[in-house]
Amino acid sequence: MQIPFNRPYLTGKELHYLYQAVQNGHLSGNGIFTKHCHSFFQQQYGYKKCLLTTSCTDALEMTALLADIQLGDEVIMPSFTFVSTANAFVLRGAKIVFADSHPDQPNLDERLIESLITSRTKAIVVVHYAGVACNMTPILQLASRYGLIVIEDAAQAIDSYYEGRILGSIGDMAAFSFHETKNLQAGEGGMLTVNNADFVHRSEILWEKGTNRTAFFRGEVDKYGWVDIGSSFLPSEMVSAFLFAQLEHLQEIQQKRLHIWHRYANELAPLAEKGHFQLPVIPSYASNNAHMFYLVLPSEIMRTVLITKLKEAGVNAVFHYQSLHKSPYFNDKHDGRQLLNSDIFSDCLLRLPIFFELTEIQQLYIIDQISRAYK
Ligand SMILES: *Cc1c(COP(=O)(O)O)cnc(C)c1O
Repeated sequence: MQIPFNRPYLTGKELHYLYQAVQNGHLSGNGIFTKHCHSFFQQQYGYKKCLLTTSCTDALEMTALLADIQLGDEVIMPSFTFVSTANAFVLRGAKIVFADSHPDQPNLDERLIESLITSRTKAIVVVHYAGVACNMTPILQLASRYGLIVIEDAAQAIDSYYEGRILGSIGDMAAFSFHETKNLQAGEGGMLTVNNADFVHRSEILWEKGTNRTAFFRGEVDKYGWVDIGSSFLPSEMVSAFLFAQLEHLQEIQQKRLHIWHRYANELAPLAEKGHFQLPVIPSYASNNAHMFYLVLPSEIMRTVLITKLKEAGVNAVFHYQSLHKSPYFNDKHDGRQLLNSDIFSDCLLRLPIFFELTEIQQLYIIDQISRAYK
């Protein structure tokens, strides 16, 4: 049996909406399907302002522009994250100050943030790893005490909550991903949500290449022109039409993924109790959107052994995120602090296949292969 790590799910309506987008004769950005997607997210989750982007990376770059990051400004974020979280701010000349993860789960440890704040600190970027919320209350308290902007990298966090509040609505702004490895996908795609009213107006301008074109189309100004910096962050209608087909199946996708997630958790619990690995920890303030199922092995060698055994059995399990503070690009820019928990997750975390079309037979096979590895 060959089981891939991920298979992007097609709901069936994608080509239909793509055809409709072509028929509409408007394929550039901010057309009907883009508006459909914006209203869907605003109605479903109550986000104040949504703007689809061509990727989460682009949405993160928009957050750095909106936060008005200047050369030398400091931005605090976890080291255990994807490169785009940091790159978006490095592009603006920021100094990145990496924070360590919690000992029992990869999210940044909020108890470490205050000691990293200086007079140059401008923003805190939280990453809701695996769609599991960071502990936002203490982070928001710090931000308000020190006048910092809070940005959520919610790339993995669609349809997930912190103490009943939807992720992406808690910080000043947030970035989501619709990359084909995420719960909802459009091949490449993303979204910016803006919650702080101060940033809403400017977000539309940055999105439309530094012009007030969006206001022009709403009839608020009689001509549009260059009013600020910006870029081409908006996706074409082809991306939005494809994404819209996914949105219509959001509940079904989430239920299926949760079902798969819980089967892993239940079936692998006995091996975890024996100490072979740890299962994901979901704090009581966080919900689970089943973006990812991972194991934390006792050592890097044991992880390599398990990945190899699974590969021999046709199962593609993977690892990811090498601590950014040790990356070839950042290594000599880091201030030398050890970030041991981040390194442990870099070395020991293993991700199991989880996707909509993973069958029960395939999943039981994966679980059986893991059990055999420990016989
Ligand atoms: C996937 C991901 C990104 C990047 O998303 P793209 O849409 O591919 O740009 C950024 N941050 C995190 C935490 C991610 O998981």
